[in-house]
Amino acid sequence: MKTDETLHSCFDREHLWHPYTSTLDPLPTYVVDSASGIRIRLADGTELIDGMSSWWCMIHGYANERLNKAASAQMSKVSHVMFGGLTHSPAIELGKALLEVAPPSMHNIFYADSGSVAVEVAMKMAVQAAISASGSHKKTNFATIRSGYHGDTWNAMSVCDPVTGMHGAFGSALPIRFFVPQPKSRFGGEWNEEDIRPLAELLESKADEIAAVILEPVVQGAGGMWFYHPQYLREARKLCDRYGVLLIFDEIATGFWRTGRFFAWEHAGVEPDIMCIGKGLTAGYLTMSAVLTTQKVADTISRGEAGVLMHGPTFMGNPLSCAIALESLKMLREQDMAAKVAHIENVMSEELAAARALPGVADVRVLGSIGVVEVKRNVDVGLFQKECVRRGVWIRPFGKNVYIMPPYIISDDDLRTLCRELISIISDERNY
Ligand code: PMP
Repeated sequence: MKTDETLHSCFDREHLWHPYTSTLDPLPTYVVDSASGIRIRLADGTELIDGMSSWWCMIHGYANERLNKAASAQMSKVSHVMFGGLTHSPAIELGKALLEVAPPSMHNIFYADSGSVAVEVAMKMAVQAAISASGSHKKTNFATIRSGYHGDTWNAMSVCDPVTGMHGAFGSALPIRFFVPQPKSRFGGEWNEEDIRPLAELLESKADEIAAVILEPVVQGAGGMWFYHPQYLREARKLCDRYGVLLIFDEIATGFWRTGRFFAWEHAGVEPDIMCIGKGLTAGYLTMSAVLTTQKVADTISRGEAGVLMHGPTFMGNPLSCAIALESLKMLREQDMAAKVAHIENVMSEELAAARALPGVADVRVLGSIGVVEVKRNVDVGLFQKECVRRGVWIRPFGKNVYIMPPYIISDDDLRTLCRELISIISDERNY
């Protein structure tokens, strides 16, 4: 007799597509029954300490009482209503709260559906603003650094790393962007001026074709989990100003204290013209993102040919998402998050340091609540995760990077267990 769990798994394997998964040889999946706090509970009763915050977003952990309450209260009023011609208090209050924590020059907010869509919207804003300001339909391309990741929709893909990203799979269907090398100067290390030279040379020769430079500030996420020197952002800002190119910061992964600051731009002290946020915005409860920009960019778009920003999705400004995001922001602002994340950083640095001595390890880096152990060869994710589940932790490596970014509520004991299990797994190369 097959148990419910086995039947679930069979259907899942046969019919449901998981992220980046082959239908011929799908990676194993584990059936989740529930999750609360820092723990994910599987259908067979196994409990896992969550090291991933479900890809950066569950910042307060699972089934948080205050967020549950905020969601129920909003649901009993209105879960969704179109944003065309209508507005509501959750959207307005969230907007006010966001402007209090955003870079000071941010003025206009566009609520979008997901991180990738936020990147699409940001790129559309940049193109509309560039055409409107220059009067030229030539100034519509983008520049970025290698090893970036900005999402899975068409234009977002086009600015992901051209080799490790999705350019291979889509070939000439993707627009061709300008790529410069990734800055090699590490966060916390010496700044090497050579790092900025390729961007300077590119903008000097091609600024008339480029609407914007798009960057993940300080932390490159899924493209390589690389932490680079904030001076790069200061130099990029100067170059963008000099050559009349907009600067977009994709803070979708880095936002909401993940790097030890509310947003990662604060490490550099230079503001973008357009900024994307998502993931932690709704504390992982629902999909929503936002694109913020300056009044100057917003008004330039509005003075352009179309007279409006050409975007308006069905679920824009969803009241339920806004209400949860607002409560989450309140929770963040009631705590000393700088101290909390600094503490996680210290514990993680202390625990992960031991990985440096392992022969299979190439690098160990920690910033804020992000810990990365880079190994020397690509990890077999299926094998690695089987071992994680056996040991009661949840970590999902990507390529050569085994990384954790737990919910901020993690206790020291759970964090130490998570780090020690991670090291123990990679200390035996048969596990990955
Ligand atoms: N930008 C960055 C920096 C991201 O890390 C991600 C998600 N990993 C995205 C954009 C895309 O967000 P989403 O998956 O919500 O579409």
